[in-house]
Amino acid sequence: MSNNIDMDLTKDLLVGEINITCPLCKKDAILSLYEYHLSLDESIVIMTIKCPNCGYKDNEIFSEGSKEYNMCIELKVENDVDLNTLIYINPGTMVELRDLGISIEIYQLDIGHIVTTEALILHIIDVIENTCIGSQDNTCAHIIEALNDVIKSKKSISIVLRDPKGVTRILKTYRESNYSFC
Ligand SMILES: [Zn+2]
Repeated sequence: MSNNIDMDLTKDLLVGEINITCPLCKKDAILSLYEYHLSLDESIVIMTIKCPNCGYKDNEIFSEGSKEYNMCIELKVENDVDLNTLIYINPGTMVELRDLGISIEIYQLDIGHIVTTEALILHIIDVIENTCIGSQDNTCAHIIEALNDVIKSKKSISIVLRDPKGVTRILKTYRESNYSFC
């Protein structure tokens, strides 16, 4: 799987792989993340994207643990590229979906702490589905339907991320100004 990686990276550094929508052909591409620790509180993250369908490739490096701390980030999800926005989620971050009147505290994400917006929304759908088992209230179904529409880019949503420690950050965005600090 990693035999066509251009950079000199060992498998030990691989943090995870996520399927994203290819920015070019809109089919499934693979986003791989590698983390290299420089010190206890600073590391660099290397991201590679490869699309087996059209051959699209992208590499990027960013540093995690920068000196910038923001407790509140508002992320707008308005089209399919916004679903690829890459977020580092610090445990304890509160995710608020004001449009739907819900907020969820993220402790442990089984998908890792570096997620795409799409993976985050799918996680929230999972949490709501589990919470709503046996409930007769149709609010749950309504929220899940709305979130599925966001995944299909049929609906826009604003996601507010509140991290008391200010570590949660946007690692990569594919559309300028799709997030702001609040
Ligand atoms: Zn492609």
